[in-house]
Amino acid sequence: MKDTNTVVVIGCGPAGLMAATVLSEAGLPVDIFDSKSSAGRKFLVAGRGGLNLTHAEDSDLFAARYGNHAELFRKLLGVFSPEDLRSWLRSLGVETFVGTSGRVFPKDATASDILKIWLEFLSKRGVVFHFRHRWQGFTKTGNPLFLAEGGECREVPADAVLLALGGASWPQTGSDGSWTEFLAAKDIRITPFRPANCGVEVAWSDHFISRFSGKPLKNLHLRCGDHQATGDVMVTEHGLEGGPIYTLSAIIRDRLAEHNPVALIVDLKRDLPLERIQEKLAQRRTKESVANFLRKNLRLSGPSYSLLREICSEEDFKDPSILASRIKKLSIPITNTRPLAEAISSAGGIAFQEVSEDLMLHKLPGVFVAGEMLDWEAPTGGYLLQGAFTTGYRAAQGILNRLKHRRS
Ligand SMILES: Cc1cc2nc3c(=O)[nH]c(=O)nc-3n(C[C@H](O)[C@H](O)[C@H](O)COP(=O)(O)OP(=O)(O)OC[C@H]3O[C@@H](n4cnc5c(N)ncnc54)[C@H](O)[C@@H]3O)c2cc1C
Repeated sequence: MKDTNTVVVIGCGPAGLMAATVLSEAGLPVDIFDSKSSAGRKFLVAGRGGLNLTHAEDSDLFAARYGNHAELFRKLLGVFSPEDLRSWLRSLGVETFVGTSGRVFPKDATASDILKIWLEFLSKRGVVFHFRHRWQGFTKTGNPLFLAEGGECREVPADAVLLALGGASWPQTGSDGSWTEFLAAKDIRITPFRPANCGVEVAWSDHFISRFSGKPLKNLHLRCGDHQATGDVMVTEHGLEGGPIYTLSAIIRDRLAEHNPVALIVDLKRDLPLERIQEKLAQRRTKESVANFLRKNLRLSGPSYSLLREICSEEDFKDPSILASRIKKLSIPITNTRPLAEAISSAGGIAFQEVSEDLMLHKLPGVFVAGEMLDWEAPTGGYLLQGAFTTGYRAAQGILNRLKHRRS
């Protein structure tokens, strides 16, 4: 290993790999470590359902996706934008395209293809990979300390360190949040991890689970407070999953944390106004069953009809005007969010007050942080990966500046 101006990057996810890219392109020797036996495991998982790399929307709208940290991300994205990400991918030979929803996907390449090309590129630049090295904090002299395979403790001399250890969802991919204890011991403020972009729990009856778990509820409009989402949702044995649920999961999580009862208000027939449904229901002859009538006249059957049955009382079904309002505003009580381990991403992590503009920890000069281990959250739609790439890029720039100033 080189011993002059060596930069140690810890974490082979998108944030760490992006930082290693910037640093190695600047000609620095880079050693990159990961506790797992291979790189980019969460990135590969992200690729399973269609790798959404970033989004093509207007920059202010994009920054607003980072909620309380919109202003900060507006600046960060100015340094490495979605367009910069696409150009950089193009330079690697990976073309991207904008889907109908504005989401950006790789063209003719899987996550695994991209990762392979990227790792080869880094190796050619001289980046040295060290797998099965679990970061264990710092030595008294400030060097990173690793637990290597076979239980060997290894101190690695470094002029600058980048931590890109991820959040705490999907711990099987390596991002298990166990790094928090080493930074908390240095008095660094870490907001506890919470699930983000996750499913929610509903106390379904056994009957409903046995018939409809794994079945989709199509074309819904969902509301929780002022927040709304539309689309298809999946019934699970625990509750509900799917894009619109993930969109609302942060508000649901925060309301539950305040011990407020939370209900999802669901419109099962978003293409029909209430009055039209009331008119239709008023035409039902008593001989015809409600189930038949709803199926024929409102195309409400299968999981959607059974959901109505699951939530409403017998009385609701007897009164056409109440039934119509239930169809338009079905209130589903939510008992919890699904656990952090299952969530697509995590909220929480290192508080932004702990870092400088270029993402160096105030309390540990020379140590920079990037990616999901910082306390930001964003919806699905490419904002998570872009957040990881952008912060990785920005922290690498910070390292380059610091080393330049130390030399001069
Ligand atoms: C199912 C799923 C689908 C997703 N789909 C998308 C999508 O389509 N679009 C999108 O934008 N985002 C998506 N994401 C989110 C995205 O993958 C993450 O936000 C992103 O990978 C975070 O990058 P990161 O580099 O910060 O952390 P990670 O990718 O989590 O990498 C952290 C690395 O640090 C290593 N590490 C952790 N602790 C230690 C330690 N103590 N010592 C050494 N190494 C350690 C880990 O092994 C890991 O390799 C998805 C996530 C999941 C789970």
